[in-house]
Amino acid sequence: MPIYEYLCTKCGSHFEKLQKSADLSGLECPTCGSVEIKKEFSTFSSAGSSSSAAGCFSGG
Ligand SMILES: [Zn+2]
Repeated sequence: MPIYEYLCTKCGSHFEKLQKSADLSGLECPTCGSVEIKKEFSTFSSAGSSSSAAGCFSGG
């Protein structure tokens, strides 16, 4: 499951969620509880760049 990034438009809090899809339904800000959430554009799937990632996720 991919991690999606979201931004609360009310308090400006930035958070991530593990979701099957980028659906915003049912989402709420973990900081203020607002449902006014906006999906952030992920840095993944950007064409034109060919640099290796510095980070590495390990399975667990
Ligand atoms: Zn918030």
